[in-house]
Amino acid sequence: MNCSEPFGAAVLGDYWLGVLGGGEEEVLEEHLFGCDECGARLREMIALADGVRNLAKEGCLRMVVSEAFLRRVEEEGLRVRQYTLPAGGEAQCTVTADDDLLIARLAADMSGARRVDLSIRDGDGVERLRLPDIPVRAGASSVVYQESMTFAKAAPDNEMIMRLMALDEAGERLLGEYVFHHTRSLPGPGGW
Ligand SMILES: [Zn+2]
Repeated sequence: MNCSEPFGAAVLGDYWLGVLGGGEEEVLEEHLFGCDECGARLREMIALADGVRNLAKEGCLRMVVSEAFLRRVEEEGLRVRQYTLPAGGEAQCTVTADDDLLIARLAADMSGARRVDLSIRDGDGVERLRLPDIPVRAGASSVVYQESMTFAKAAPDNEMIMRLMALDEAGERLLGEYVFHHTRSLPGPGGW
């Protein structure tokens, strides 16, 4: 058990989710053929990733997803409602009973940011949730955030503010703020 080039959990997870690129997938499969150590780690990943995949596809998680995940679910015929905002942008948004996934694409200049947090605030600017150290691919110009469908479908008219923050020793730096004016389209109670 001494793999000289162990694959990271993120790569193994992407592999199991089926979102690795063709070339990367081939390299990993060749490696797994001869490496029990990485194989064992992959099996550990499977229980976890399977659960996450199902939850993500049901659209009930608030999470940052990859472009590949988005392509995959669209190919599978899920209906994706997507709002794309520049830094400082605002959107009028809603969700209908037909939507499977609700996606916010937040554009920002993240070059040089070692850690990026996504802060989700109510209309008064009070932070309600923070996703720390979200995955940002090198050279990425946007973050793809999946809102919880369970939450969005139940939400009354409300305002939600998202902020992308860069964190380093110097503290926090605002990369972009995004305001969503949500209009309810489905009846029922709900809210924060
Ligand atoms: Zn290995």
